[in-house]
Amino acid sequence: MSDKVVTRFAPSPTGFLHIGGARTALFNWLYAKHTGGRMLLRIEDTDRERSTDAATVAILDGLSWLGLTWDGEPVSQFERAPRHRAVAEELVRLGKAYYCYATPAELEAMRESARAKGLPPRYDGRWRDRDPSEAPVGARGAIRIKAPAEGETVVHDRVQGEVRFPNKDLDDFIILRSDGNPTYMHAVVVDDHDMGITHIIRGDDHLTNAARQMVIYRALGWEVPSIAHIPLIHGADGAKLSKRHGALGVEAYRAMGYLPEALLNYLARLGWSHGDDEVISVTDMIAWFDIGDVNKGAARFDFAKLEALNGVHMRRMNDAELLEIFINTLPYLEGGPAIAARLDDTRKAQLLAALPGLKERAKTLVELVDGAAFLFAERPLPIDEKAAALLGGEAREILRGAHAALKAISGDWTAAAAEAAIRQYALAGGRKLGAVAQPLRAALTGKSTSPGVFDVLAVLGREESLARVADQID
Ligand code: GLU
Repeated sequence: MSDKVVTRFAPSPTGFLHIGGARTALFNWLYAKHTGGRMLLRIEDTDRERSTDAATVAILDGLSWLGLTWDGEPVSQFERAPRHRAVAEELVRLGKAYYCYATPAELEAMRESARAKGLPPRYDGRWRDRDPSEAPVGARGAIRIKAPAEGETVVHDRVQGEVRFPNKDLDDFIILRSDGNPTYMHAVVVDDHDMGITHIIRGDDHLTNAARQMVIYRALGWEVPSIAHIPLIHGADGAKLSKRHGALGVEAYRAMGYLPEALLNYLARLGWSHGDDEVISVTDMIAWFDIGDVNKGAARFDFAKLEALNGVHMRRMNDAELLEIFINTLPYLEGGPAIAARLDDTRKAQLLAALPGLKERAKTLVELVDGAAFLFAERPLPIDEKAAALLGGEAREILRGAHAALKAISGDWTAAAAEAAIRQYALAGGRKLGAVAQPLRAALTGKSTSPGVFDVLAVLGREESLARVADQID
């Protein structure tokens, strides 16, 4: 065994990969990358009723989209049930666990009487010290761990600090049900041990489980991994994260046009910081991340911040790289499939040329679809309301002159040549440049906003540009 860091992401496949799960995966991944270790993936599909293959696929897909790679094959917790059973039986042999034959009615009565005394419902230990020969004939008992009754169990948590649990609150909980299936609590411990996990990083909703899991580790004489419980993500208003706040599957963020790197940056900053740095590349995140720097307080999810950050990442990104992500994401974006269908090599080249101008005006890939629509539009162009307003009045007259000026360009059709021609035409007619540029933009794009109009002319090319302008004259 090497002493390298091994983390794991252990989602339950009962739904999509939601944003909190993605952040847990990210922290595990960052820590593994930072330390030169490995991150393993375990699908916690022990709950057969709630687990689905579709959810597993969605989780793997979400992780892959984010670039959160795992080492080796994903482990199915359900498939390891025989091993969980064997360990539970071994604990019985060691005298650290025992079979309990309490009936459902007895357990209900126990809960009732605890409730009546205002105590938390706990098992009263009635089979703890009984001799196995007293077992009812033919009954299959559940296996319960012998939890310590006195003192306390201390979790040394790398985020929460030292958390103490009085042992009187930890009852002899079940590790193997009477049907032979392990409980979640037990399966996690056995799996983490067998997978050689050195660091557990997960949501702080599992903090109390940690105390119970430590009881199992101790009973087995296994070394307890380093533990870190990260605060949950809350909505911008401080309430528990709901759909309205952004508790969506990561595929919803892909459809909203966020870049994986921007989403990772945003998620990392939710609960972790590195000085005043806000815009952080994945490479820097890996270099800087440490579990000890994760904050204890709940993080608040804020769409406006995510969107702003996404815009920054888009502008920072090299155009060829952004184009590739854009093209790969088109099938998931509103209006994207239509563009994807018309994306030939010419249009790809046009898109790449237009990208510097387009990305200045877009915070998401969805806005980029919108901005790029003019490249893919068929003549005669659909004209939106604001553009139509720019094409009224004397616009037709102005466009007639602009058309002639552009047509007269004799050299190469470039943004600079188009600008010179239009400036000269405006000057000659005693008009401001904007008075010509605005109707021109409307004619060329069907919109009132677009990248710089001369760049638009250059990207569309001579023939298409002149034809679009002509369409608005006749
Ligand atoms: N399967 C658990 C969950 O999805 C995680 C358990 C763990 O990390 O120990 O919340």
